[in-house]
Amino acid sequence: MNATLQWFGTATWRLTVGDTVIWLDAYIDRNALAAPVPQRAAEITSGDFILIGHSHFDHIAEASLVAKNTGATVVGSALSCEIVQDEGLPPAKTITCAGGEELELAPVKVRPFRSLHGFNGLREWPDPAGRTREERMAEVQARDPELARAAAAHTANIPEKQRQDGGPLAYIVEWDGFRLFWHDTPGMVQASWEQAARYPADLAILAAAAGFSTPNIDGEPQHGGVVPFVTGMTQILKPGAVVLNHHDDWMPPVTFHLDEAQFAEPLSTAGSKLEIRKLGESFSLG
Ligand SMILES: [Zn+2]
Repeated sequence: MNATLQWFGTATWRLTVGDTVIWLDAYIDRNALAAPVPQRAAEITSGDFILIGHSHFDHIAEASLVAKNTGATVVGSALSCEIVQDEGLPPAKTITCAGGEELELAPVKVRPFRSLHGFNGLREWPDPAGRTREERMAEVQARDPELARAAAAHTANIPEKQRQDGGPLAYIVEWDGFRLFWHDTPGMVQASWEQAARYPADLAILAAAAGFSTPNIDGEPQHGGVVPFVTGMTQILKPGAVVLNHHDDWMPPVTFHLDEAQFAEPLSTAGSKLEIRKLGESFSLG
C-alpha cells in the first residue's frame, strides 16, 4: 500500500495508508501569525482515525470538528475522548486507551504507549537562570508585542480541559511490515520506550520543543536539552530514520524554530538518520 505523511506543523500529521487517512493529533487552526499550514480544519474532508498524543489544545483543538466532518474515530486518553465528546462527538466514535493496548484499525495496527509531558518552564519548572514567571513573560512580550497579543488572543478561550495533558501517549502505527513511531511532547517513560523497542520502527517522529520546554524522563527534568534527549530516545528505539516534530515556531513569540541540523551528527552516532521535513511537505513512506 502506498503511504504518505504530511506535516501540519506542531505535532500534527496527516498519514495516508492506501485510502485510509489517519491524523496524528489535530491542531490545525493555529495562531494566525504562525506559519500557515496546508488547510484550515473546516476544509478537511477526509479522515478515518485521529490519534491524539495528549489533551493540550495544541494537539487536540480541532479533533472534534475534523471527526464530525469526516466520520473519523478519535483514539486517545480518557480525557482526550471526554473533550471530543463534550464537543458533540458520540462515544461510539471514540476509543479510550491508556497504553499497552493493541488496536486493529484496518488497514493499520496501532499500539499506544504511556508517555509523559515535557516540563513547561513558564508553568511548573523553575528557570535555571532564576527569573520569575513574570520576568520571563515580560521578555516574551518585549520580543514582539504584536505577536504576543496574537498569541494571547489565540489562547484566551481554550477550554479548561485542554489545559491538562490527560496522560500523554506515544504510538506505533504498523502496516505492511512498516512501523511508524510517533510522539508529541518532549517526555518519555523509559520502560514504555523499551517496550516499544520490541517493535523496531522504520521511522520515528520524535518531539523536540524550543523555548520554555525542558525534556522529562520518568519525571526527572533533563537540563541537557533536547539534543541529548532525542538522541537518548533514538538509542533505545533504534529507528531507521528520525523526523522531528513540535520544534517549529508554532506560537510566536513564546516559541521559536529549533534548528534541525544540530541533531544530524548525534543521531548518526546513535545509528539512525535525521530526515528534515518542511511544514506542509508530503513525502512517501516505505
Ligand atoms: Zn502539551
